[in-house]
Amino acid sequence: MMTKIEYEQLGRLNEPFFTEIKLAVNKVIESGWYILGREVELFEIEFAQWVGAKYCVGVANGLDALTLSLRALELPAGSEVLVPSNTYIATILAILHAGHKPVLVEPSEKTLNIDWRQLPAKLTNKTKALCLVHLYGSACDMKEILEFSSAHGLAVVEDCAQSHGATYANVQTGTFGQAGCFSFYPTKNLGAMGDAGAVVTDDERVAHRLKYLRNYGSAVKYHNKFVGYNSRLDEIQAAILRVKLKYLNQINEYKNHLANVYFANLCEDYVLPHRSAGRHDVYHIFPIRTPRRDELRTWLADRGVKTEIHYPLPPHRQEAMVGLFNDDYPIAEKIHKQILSLPISFANTTEDVMTVCRLLNEFSKN
Ligand SMILES: *Cc1c(COP(=O)(O)O)cnc(C)c1O
Repeated sequence: MMTKIEYEQLGRLNEPFFTEIKLAVNKVIESGWYILGREVELFEIEFAQWVGAKYCVGVANGLDALTLSLRALELPAGSEVLVPSNTYIATILAILHAGHKPVLVEPSEKTLNIDWRQLPAKLTNKTKALCLVHLYGSACDMKEILEFSSAHGLAVVEDCAQSHGATYANVQTGTFGQAGCFSFYPTKNLGAMGDAGAVVTDDERVAHRLKYLRNYGSAVKYHNKFVGYNSRLDEIQAAILRVKLKYLNQINEYKNHLANVYFANLCEDYVLPHRSAGRHDVYHIFPIRTPRRDELRTWLADRGVKTEIHYPLPPHRQEAMVGLFNDDYPIAEKIHKQILSLPISFANTTEDVMTVCRLLNEFSKN
């Protein structure tokens, strides 16, 4: 039989939770309360506790989690916000939507996360915040970054869309800065069955503002205190997330197991994700690098193995960003040309991953 290994299958991924999810969704349907009800409230309490933060505010998606967090910080309009040059476009869009100027900082070629050594060169008197991304599920170099941000009085917003549960020095991502922004897009380690997001924070003022901003700037119906948004976490999605949150540790552990199979079996021709002591990664994505990326991807596809590219085009190359960034970003460019995401879904088996390893090792001999 021909090998067939999918990159991601959301139905199969969620299948173990179907019975519980259906019960939870039914409860919401029958309750007749569909917006900002008990499920959102309980999810916020449970997720804050899981992350280890004081507050959690549910929002509509990850992009809004970032945009509203930046708004809640009330930085001067047009502030410069430092952000990695190889992030997913959402991080950049959030900075723009919040009325600020994204300033791209190159990543480290080793960790693929923002290179703190490059931060001082990008600092101006307009720099007011750092928007970190714990890309692929691996925490940034928090010690050095926090030293820099506190030395210069910069706010820190963390994009944790790929890092649910990832830790640095045993502390979870999302709790280092003023706001930790999560996406629960269906493919994320904690994925809903539609769009969903949340912000965690220890800052009561930030949490308070976020509750207004997500709901038309209003806490009392028809009384608007801020120029807000409609970005509420959906009650049905919250009910689904409450079920899946109970299994998030298990999902993360399973992805770690699959990552370990790759680490143990892939030959040395590929650059594998960086691992370091004091960091626990959650492998939202398992990116390898090779100069023969495109050839390899086709070769694998011909043999029934699906892969993805996160991401084919860096933000500064996007049509939407023309005129915004004038510097060169050679490291981001190089990464985007060489990177390939291997299957590492909760729906993949150990045998799937062994097969992928065998094929990759065979390809490297050609
Ligand atoms: C998925 C993702 C987002 C956006 O999340 P949405 O819920 O799709 O809006 C933001 N940043 C990163 C790094 C992501 O991977």
